[in-house]
Amino acid sequence: MKYLSTRGDTTPRGFADILLEGLAPDGGLYLPMHYPQVDGATLARWRGLPYAELAFEILSLYVDDIPAADLHALVRKTYTREVFGTDAIVPLRRLDDGIAIEALSNGPTLAFKDMAMQLLGHLFEYELARRGQQLNILGATSGDTGSAAEYAMRGKRGIRVFMLSPHGRMSPFQQAQMFSLQDGNIHNLAIEGVFDDCQDIVKAVSADLEFKRRWSIGTVNSINWARLLAQVVYYFAGYFQATRSDDEPVSFAVPSGNFGNICAGHVARMMGLPIRRLVCATNENDVLDEFFRTGTYRVRASAETFETSSPSMDISKASNFERFVFDLLGRDAARTAALFGVEVPTRGGFTLTAAEFARVREFGFVSGRSTHAERVATIRDTWQRHRVMIDPHTADGLKVAREHREPGVPTIVLETALPAKFAATIREALGREPERPPGLEGLEALPRRFTVLPARVDAVKHYIETHCGA
Ligand SMILES: *Cc1c(COP(=O)(O)O)cnc(C)c1O
Repeated sequence: MKYLSTRGDTTPRGFADILLEGLAPDGGLYLPMHYPQVDGATLARWRGLPYAELAFEILSLYVDDIPAADLHALVRKTYTREVFGTDAIVPLRRLDDGIAIEALSNGPTLAFKDMAMQLLGHLFEYELARRGQQLNILGATSGDTGSAAEYAMRGKRGIRVFMLSPHGRMSPFQQAQMFSLQDGNIHNLAIEGVFDDCQDIVKAVSADLEFKRRWSIGTVNSINWARLLAQVVYYFAGYFQATRSDDEPVSFAVPSGNFGNICAGHVARMMGLPIRRLVCATNENDVLDEFFRTGTYRVRASAETFETSSPSMDISKASNFERFVFDLLGRDAARTAALFGVEVPTRGGFTLTAAEFARVREFGFVSGRSTHAERVATIRDTWQRHRVMIDPHTADGLKVAREHREPGVPTIVLETALPAKFAATIREALGREPERPPGLEGLEALPRRFTVLPARVDAVKHYIETHCGA
């Protein structure tokens, strides 16, 4: 399988070539040249497979430059009961009205990002060793992504992580989760500023190409194709659990931010998995809901981006969205480049033609949004009626799933985090503390390892320079 860019660069690249890269050189995102088609016989064969074997089958369709035995070993090391808590890895819990929740958040950081990031850690370590290279991952986080990256990369050979977070501004649980890591290759940099300062510093360091090359700086952002590919697997795993045969349609409801998770659902659907609808759920930051209702994609300014109680969905633009639009436009790279390379940067967005927008339905997409009051009510209702405790992001997904439910079609809501990470909203909804998985009871009391730095580019560069030798 070779990969191309959504903006027209068709230099053929293999999976291992794009694994360690971010954007394509022309500013586009990487996608496979085509989507391998999965027929009924293949689905029937995959239905009974353990999760790691299913992952190996799906990845093998997209990866032909890592020997099969090596890929198999990497996948089997990743998806284990030890890391994800159960043999099923992503068990389904049925609620009512044909609605079920697919558990994706039982990895080390209690959010679905572990599903992809844990695999990425193994893939990066493997590929860097093969090339005799090192990588210094630089990132900014306000919570989920940074901790998932650190838990995936801890102790990995050839990799260091420098993760910037706003000093004192993450939730107590998130701080404890990240700062308690004692691994020598993990560097927590608490920046005296807000999240935007952290992000600006990362951008400034990455824009210094000389520094970037000299110190082998890379990222693990949400546009990485390998992350997306790893997420395709749980759509298949959820489908098999919700159905008995391979022609029954299922819908998925996905709490969305940067459009990575639901884009993986789009890929699964393009491969032939019988997905009827992909329900895109947003919170008050409704860039995506607005697009799916109107055909207008309008990036928000920071002043228009709200801080909500489902903070991992607080986005101003959706970084993976270009992938879907490229497919929607019949893979017209020139039109995609005009929209995302010209209209978005100069006019803050675009409106599709009526004919283009009409195709959204063929791709199965519908959408909805949820407010703070609605997610609190959904958390309370789900607890009272089912004794199932869900987190605020999953609640956004469930709220919108109910609005789009169709009789006879099961809807699977993707659980994107556990309630333990968002204690304040759980207290508000239920008047009690969230459940906490065993083993994490004393998390806040563990010794912490982090360095406070001023919000200055030179301070961060200096820190990297003095910690890359070891
Ligand atoms: C990252 C994240 C999301 C959004 O996922 P995208 O792939 O960016 O759409 C939703 N919920 C939680 C808890 C997350 O961490």
